[in-house]
Amino acid sequence: MRALLFKAVGKPLEVATLPDPEPNEGEVVVRVSRCGVCGTDLHATSGHGMTLPPDSTMGHEFGGEVVAIGKNVDRFKLGDHLAAMPVVGCGHCEGCKTGIDMLCQNGWAQYGGGLAEYARVSARGAVKLPKTVSLADSALVEPLAVGCRAVRVANPDKDSKVVIIGPGPIGLSVLFWLRQRGVENIVLLASTGRRKGLASKMGGDKFLLEGDGVADEIRSVLGGSPDIVFEAAGVPGVFARAIDLIRPQGTIIALGFCMQPDPIVPAMGLMKDCTIRWSIVYSREDYAACADALNNHGDLARAMVTETVGFAEAPAAFENLRAGKDGGGKLLIDPWG
Ligand SMILES: [Zn+2]
Ligand SMILES: [Zn+2]
Repeated sequence: MRALLFKAVGKPLEVATLPDPEPNEGEVVVRVSRCGVCGTDLHATSGHGMTLPPDSTMGHEFGGEVVAIGKNVDRFKLGDHLAAMPVVGCGHCEGCKTGIDMLCQNGWAQYGGGLAEYARVSARGAVKLPKTVSLADSALVEPLAVGCRAVRVANPDKDSKVVIIGPGPIGLSVLFWLRQRGVENIVLLASTGRRKGLASKMGGDKFLLEGDGVADEIRSVLGGSPDIVFEAAGVPGVFARAIDLIRPQGTIIALGFCMQPDPIVPAMGLMKDCTIRWSIVYSREDYAACADALNNHGDLARAMVTETVGFAEAPAAFENLRAGKDGGGKLLIDPWG
């Protein structure tokens, strides 16, 4: 099969031929329909720490059709459609008992490799997709699930005033789930205007640019300080910003993947008596909710996709994403396109 490989920092991804994968016990193999590119993929290939070894396969946002089944798999049959969960825990430790496999204390198994024609998938982690969901949407389950959990943790009501800092794919996924809950009073706070159109297609028309005086503008647009701020930018400075914006006793949900220190003045948080709550990925329930949401509101979710390319165009599209020259939404790769 063909797969896209990371070669080295500063080099474009390369198409290589690898042996077709075989399913181990508890696994299936899918013919990958689409694989999304994530900010963490850029991170792992940028040389800023946690860099992948050369010749690594990549891609953790993917789905496809089951074409081979390993031993002891009863949840799937040939021809089923699924979305893969990229991390699967041991299933019985304290971490796994939370429902979030990434919290496994026994070292989770990683199921990446979605940037390939075929990929191995843990049957236990995957969610079956109804046949009414297009396989082209299967790669949206993973990024949507991140927003699904964050919104579940925040538990807004319809009247909540909300700010999303950073309207990238994860911020847009938060927007999607807020709208599913009927929350309408939402400001998207961005450092550039390039995602304004995307946000508006997904029901986020209150789009403001970071700058002097924006805090007053946010209060005037929302009719008060936000009850909830979602931090989906993952850059230093956002926590101070979120604490500055939040109403007294409000909640900040932290989703951004930031590998640099981000200093805050604790007294500022204290003076707001606010909650800062991190939210890491998702549970199986979130995956199932995303399969349902794609079935019922696929158009809205699909609005976050700005580009779908085949392997030939993928290396250049990947570098455009890194350089911020893409459309600002989700880049999907079709291994067969
Ligand atoms: Zn991701
Ligand atoms: Zn575990």
